[in-house]
Amino acid sequence: MDIHEYQAKEILKSFGVTVPEGALAYSPEQAAYRAREMGGNAWVVKAQVHAGGRGKAGGVKLCKTDHEILDASSAMFGMKLVTHQTGPEGKGVYRVYVEAATAFDREIYLGFVLDRSSQRIMIVASAEGGMEIEEISATRPDSIVRQTVEPAVGLRDFQAREIAFALGIPPDLTQQMVRTLQGCFRAFTDLDATMVEINPLVITADRRIMALDAKMTFDTNALFRHPQISELRDKSQEDPRESRAADRGLAYIGLSGNIGCIVNGAGLAMATMDTIKLAGGEPANFLDIGGGATPERVAKAFRLVTSDKNVQAVLVNIFAGINRCDWVAEGVVQALKMEPVDVPVIVRLAGTNVEEGQKILAKSGLPIIRANSLMEAATRAVTAWKNDTAQNSRLRASE
Ligand code: GDP
Ligand code: MN
Repeated sequence: MDIHEYQAKEILKSFGVTVPEGALAYSPEQAAYRAREMGGNAWVVKAQVHAGGRGKAGGVKLCKTDHEILDASSAMFGMKLVTHQTGPEGKGVYRVYVEAATAFDREIYLGFVLDRSSQRIMIVASAEGGMEIEEISATRPDSIVRQTVEPAVGLRDFQAREIAFALGIPPDLTQQMVRTLQGCFRAFTDLDATMVEINPLVITADRRIMALDAKMTFDTNALFRHPQISELRDKSQEDPRESRAADRGLAYIGLSGNIGCIVNGAGLAMATMDTIKLAGGEPANFLDIGGGATPERVAKAFRLVTSDKNVQAVLVNIFAGINRCDWVAEGVVQALKMEPVDVPVIVRLAGTNVEEGQKILAKSGLPIIRANSLMEAATRAVTAWKNDTAQNSRLRASE
């Protein structure tokens, strides 16, 4: 789960990281008011979206007057900010953060990530801050400093000093840098984060080490033990299909194709998506309904998939071990009777109670296309989708 910059800064501040003074606003007038309240003569207005690259996309503006703050934030509110991290649809701006502008001499990149190959937290830093890490690793790979942390002992001060030294931090600021690194590391481990990124971390003109930007991502599976972090979730920044799925406890990932998939087990879901592609189609989603799915759960999953406007055919592929084909069939029938859909539905069932499942589908009187193997199901789904789309465009043409 991602959070906003201002939230990450508040958290990191509580762990001893220095951040600029700032205030949140929900309207341009409030932004100007908050700046006046803060005082000073220059401010930075920052669109709060769950994505980086805002600077280049017009989501970060330096302002010197009330008027400039009103103008800058009016332009941001309600806009869909498109950065290289958001995808073409962008992310809506509903909050802006106003900060006292900071004069700085140097920008540093600092990231904490989970390194899967060493199975450790890895600190990645570079004296070439301000650019994205992808750009740094493409243009200045030699500037990147990496250190992994031994989990049994945590981040040692000498390691933090080594990083400070490698980044060329002046000796009088080493202690501040160590505190910053330790603060980020503790926030990462204490709160079950999967990523902490400060870009840029700056050396200010008045010689402080300060985080001008902050990004944190948390392990969703550990949120149950951090209710204060769960509360920071902002659904306006999520794919609405994925938020709905998360609310229903379904493992769902939205994709850009047209064939909706309802599958049990992550492995089978992956195989189903591959087979759809092999048959010449594109999956609209990944969806794992899990084991022991009740008819109600299957029906929920079905409605979730068909509520996606891009879905032009639905493929249900169940290999039932713990699951029961009859329950799955009942779920599909229940969903279709409650809310009929005008796209072809293909069902392939195998395993526990498969005969009962087939009977339920046959008796329902619904136009469900049945298949026996995965390849057959995928081929039928792709064919049905193509026929359906061709027919619809003929209908439109004759109107
Ligand atoms: P991002 O583009 O989404 O990563 O947003 P950032 O918060 O990193 O802001 C983009 C850039 O704006 C930074 O790399 C800085 O160079 C600049 N910036 C942000 N805050 C300040 C500030 O307080 N003072 C100055 N001078 N520049 C700032
Ligand atoms: Mn940044």
